[in-house]
Amino acid sequence: MSLLEKAHRILALLEKHYPEFKGGLTNYSTPFQMLVATVLSAQSTDKQVNSITKELFSRFPDPESFASSSIKEIENSISRVGLYKNKAKYIFELSKKLIAKYNSIVPTSITELVKLPGVGRKTANVLLNDWFNIHEGIAVDTHVKRLSYRMGLTTKIAPNKIEEDLQRIIPSENWGRITHLFISHGRAVCKAQKPSCKTCFLLNLCPRVGVLEE
Ligand code: SF4
Repeated sequence: MSLLEKAHRILALLEKHYPEFKGGLTNYSTPFQMLVATVLSAQSTDKQVNSITKELFSRFPDPESFASSSIKEIENSISRVGLYKNKAKYIFELSKKLIAKYNSIVPTSITELVKLPGVGRKTANVLLNDWFNIHEGIAVDTHVKRLSYRMGLTTKIAPNKIEEDLQRIIPSENWGRITHLFISHGRAVCKAQKPSCKTCFLLNLCPRVGVLEE
């Protein structure tokens, strides 16, 4: 079976088993708020981020409100998420840059998004795929990385290389969905420690690269 055919079958099975796939972040109502929530989610759980964003966005709904605040005030509002000091600085700086360079409008290309402080390819891809329905790339998080490797869809370790490999075998209209499907499967079955291979619906398609036999 070609890699293309294998990816097609894996995608179909994931869609069948996780029909309700969607991102774990909630509480945002504009692309700017989604961008900030996604920046906050780096090395933090969606649950942690969701626990602060309702209050955060009622106080700071737009770039202007963050930019007219101070890094210290933002730190105080986000102190329950990991790396909050760095993230407060990023949010303050990216708000100022959005106002100064983009008229407070979130840009809609990876090239422009990654110029914003605290925004890497993963964050840019999440925003473009999930909010704008623009499929420029695939967001590679820890689940996408682990599952792609185990399933033999890539042999690479660097997220940008994994993204390139996945882009070659997954049709672009599925680039947003694949991240959520891999996250769903990574949380439910193909966990980092002790994946449930024996009962996994992908077992026949999966070489289980790097998985230790029980
Ligand atoms: S067979 Fe095992 S390694 Fe492969 S996707 Fe399923 S749980 Fe993960």
